[in-house]
Amino acid sequence: MDGSDLAEGLRSRLAAVRARIDAAARTAGRDPAEVRLLAVSKTVPADVVRLAVEAGCEALGESRAQELTAKAADLADLAPRWAFLGPLQTNKARDVAAHAHELHSLDRPALAETLQRRLDAADRMLEVLVQVNTSGEAAKSGVAPADAESLVRAAAGYDRLHVRGLMTIATRGGDDAEARRCFRELAAAAARVREAGIDGVGMDELSMGMSGDLEVAIEEGATTVRVGTAIFGAR
Ligand SMILES: *Cc1c(COP(=O)(O)O)cnc(C)c1O
Repeated sequence: MDGSDLAEGLRSRLAAVRARIDAAARTAGRDPAEVRLLAVSKTVPADVVRLAVEAGCEALGESRAQELTAKAADLADLAPRWAFLGPLQTNKARDVAAHAHELHSLDRPALAETLQRRLDAADRMLEVLVQVNTSGEAAKSGVAPADAESLVRAAAGYDRLHVRGLMTIATRGGDDAEARRCFRELAAAAARVREAGIDGVGMDELSMGMSGDLEVAIEEGATTVRVGTAIFGAR
């Protein structure tokens, strides 16, 4: 495939994803403009990601620190918005602090503390979402729903972090009903944190929904859907 075929394919898959988002928002009685598409570009080569940005993807998601660093350099001229999505080891916090605009996987106070130090050194700010394990799967990272508030409080104490909301991943291999249960649990946890009225904390972002379950997520209040496969093809 040459570059123009690739670009054409990306544009049409992107249009199809946008149509799904629009339809789901309308079904839910929501304004489609309330739902942001985060294009998950992990494992996708930088030249293909470049075409996606040129096709209108403004925000990109990566899950490996090294890959984020390399792509941020490759695409520096386009200055896309970078989100970090995966489990983050403390010793990789420097890469995220240097390049990411948002982190969807804050899962422990020690990581917040390290990020604060790295961000201070880089003179940058980072928007953060606390990852919540709503599926109960042992393999999944994130705090229990009941512990979201205390981690938000801890993160809110660091002036380089701006807590924007919560993120979750629905049960792997579950059906729509199970995904809906996870997404409702996240929305309920966010409502409880909002209720607590923590200073400087927004709680206006719900990052939930991926290629297979974005409609359900939008019905349950997603403000960001994270879509990889439906845009870039199978990894
Ligand atoms: C890979 C990944 C996605 C994208 O998943 P797709 O099913 O390819 O759309 C979304 N969120 C997270 C946290 C991911 O790691």
